[in-house]
Amino acid sequence: MSSKVAEAPLLSLLEPVHPMNSSRLMLSLLHLAEAGIDRPKNAAGIAGLISVRVLRTLLGALQFRDAKTMLHARRTSLICRGIAERLGWEEDALNIIELAALAHDMGKIGLPDHILKKPGKLSPDEAEHISVQHRVTICLLQACGVNSRVIDMVAHSHGVDKTEGPVDAELGLGARVLSVADAYDSLTTNQAYRPAYDPDEALKILDEQTGKEFDRNVVAALTRWLQSPGADMLLDLDPENLPPQSGAVSTAMFGETNALCYLLNTLHSMECMYEGLIVVDADLMIRVWNSGAERTFATAARHVLGKQWNPDDFSIVSLAGDNGGTALRDTLREGRAVCRRLAFRDPATADSVRELAIHTVPLIENGAVRGAVGLIYDTKQAKRHEGQFRQLQMAATRDPLTGVMNRGELESTLQQLHHEYEVSKGHTPYSVIFFDLDHFKAINDRLGHNVGDQVLIEVARLMEDETYSGESVGRYGGEEFVIVCPETEFDAAIEKSERLRRVLINTRIANRTDLRVTASFGVAQVEPGDTVDSVVERADSALYEAKNGGRNRTCSQRRFEQPLGVVSSFDLSKKKVDDWIVCVNLVTNVAADLIVYKLKGFVHDHAVEILECTPKRIVVNCGRAGLFGWGNRPEAQPVKVSIDIQNAPSINSKSGNKRILLATTVEPVTRPMRPAVFQARAHQIIDHLRSYSIADTYHGDE
Ligand code: GH3
Ligand code: MG
Ligand code: MG
Repeated sequence: MSSKVAEAPLLSLLEPVHPMNSSRLMLSLLHLAEAGIDRPKNAAGIAGLISVRVLRTLLGALQFRDAKTMLHARRTSLICRGIAERLGWEEDALNIIELAALAHDMGKIGLPDHILKKPGKLSPDEAEHISVQHRVTICLLQACGVNSRVIDMVAHSHGVDKTEGPVDAELGLGARVLSVADAYDSLTTNQAYRPAYDPDEALKILDEQTGKEFDRNVVAALTRWLQSPGADMLLDLDPENLPPQSGAVSTAMFGETNALCYLLNTLHSMECMYEGLIVVDADLMIRVWNSGAERTFATAARHVLGKQWNPDDFSIVSLAGDNGGTALRDTLREGRAVCRRLAFRDPATADSVRELAIHTVPLIENGAVRGAVGLIYDTKQAKRHEGQFRQLQMAATRDPLTGVMNRGELESTLQQLHHEYEVSKGHTPYSVIFFDLDHFKAINDRLGHNVGDQVLIEVARLMEDETYSGESVGRYGGEEFVIVCPETEFDAAIEKSERLRRVLINTRIANRTDLRVTASFGVAQVEPGDTVDSVVERADSALYEAKNGGRNRTCSQRRFEQPLGVVSSFDLSKKKVDDWIVCVNLVTNVAADLIVYKLKGFVHDHAVEILECTPKRIVVNCGRAGLFGWGNRPEAQPVKVSIDIQNAPSINSKSGNKRILLATTVEPVTRPMRPAVFQARAHQIIDHLRSYSIADTYHGDE
């Protein structure tokens, strides 16, 4: 970051403003925009992506507001660069991700302490506040004229809504790199609610969550980078190794940070209150286009930022005597606020006209109109978020021992989700995971009630740490807990339950080496015709099944048995079997629900590419050919493996359990010179599959 940009004091950009003077605060947004645009064309490195002057202001404010978050941003940026280098990224892309990481938590400048420094998991309201703040961060970065790839990467890593379909591969990967780096740094840093994990433990945790939450290749690249000398730079950013900060803060810095906090707060309330927020400068150039505007006009910010507002671009139609499309222009010309109806053709249904309203506010400085803010609102739905910011009712809703939701709160959370499920006509299914500690009474008896209590507290905290912010953990009673998973389908819930079960086994509880805590899990998903009670009943009964089956396992129940399809093991005599295909029927006692999870070990150890994965069929590619085709090592011998998972009602084991048939086909992906080479490889794969799925070869009806 060696740039020769003049170091003009930024006081003129972010001067002290009364916190309630929202027009004046929005004006400072335009000042940032001006400074942001004013950067040397074709500058190298990060200076080509953001004005160095603006970056310095933002980092200064973050440092002053919360030095810990600032260090986190710098370490995350370093880690991102390290990972992306290992992934072979070019310099330009490296700069983008480096800046995205530095900027990803910029919105924290405007977070109040009771959220920023909370020593525990956030409540749903607090989490909602943070997610609004992520959108505010995006507005701030837009106004600062930050390169749009950087903004998109930050937005994508925060999961901020975007109107457009799939993002390009680099952006998606960048966001995944950012989330791994972010998580790794958080895990290896002391938090108010737990001490730092050492790097190996942190990597292990990330590794356990690869697949769904974290990208396996990214975690592998991080592991490699951490072993390189470059990673030593992290130590320079360790608060323990830094000289103590001097207490003196310049008045200028104090004023700037305050102004920025007020500005972020204003943006926050606008985000919450309005359908969309637009800021234009005196030339009607669009400087801010928030995610609400993206949604309302079905147009991504990167297509409109820096362009002139033109109502024709958004199919805005004028209503009799009332044209909302010209409101921004009229406000700039007349220097006064207006409220108009804003009607436009819905891009989805070309002819239906959607009617909203726009309220525009002039941004005036020294008597001159410098820009305007457009606030879009829906006259029919007074406010989007009304009632969403509930009072924190901790005492009434929390379990006093563990701090997780109590049974009453659990029930109202479930009722609420169930209501949403019904209103959405089944489009937002939720799942519940019940778990009960195994042989807990014995723990109490052997180690005393106090240790028992400690176990309950730590297990509850572990589960909170291991779940997402949208999910909630509650204590159902005694040593039985529930995890409520919104928008989670059956398979994902089973997978989550298994992950939690493994995390529990691998965690030392109450700091005792002589204690191994396990739990049994029961999973159910809401299905048509369910009530909250019937879902809970199923999860509870699945849990009972897990206990009976021997504990320390997951069982699941569906309301309606899912038919697994027609039973059609390969008739090997009829199947055209030549040298280039191997078909084998395997049969196993492992339940259908769980077979996919058993096969995960196989998938992991063979570094396969998954082509299809449903409860009924798995298709994967194992291995990759080298430059000269098939090699000598299995990894260089690519084959496609298709597994059809079927019920086998006619085949019943002695215990009476249903057995599952895995009709498996192996074919070469590009052929080796000799069929014998392929045959050897195919049979090796089948052998592995057999052991991973605890299966036998099926030779016809037994
Ligand atoms: P299982 O594997 O079948 O679940 O066996 P278990 O011993 O865990 O189950 P059981 O229901 O027989 O015993 C539950 C025990 O949990 C009995 C009770 O004393 C203990 N317990 C319930 N609430 C608390 C609590 O708040 N603190 C402590 N320390 N123990 C509790
Ligand atoms: Mg128990
Ligand atoms: Mg119990």
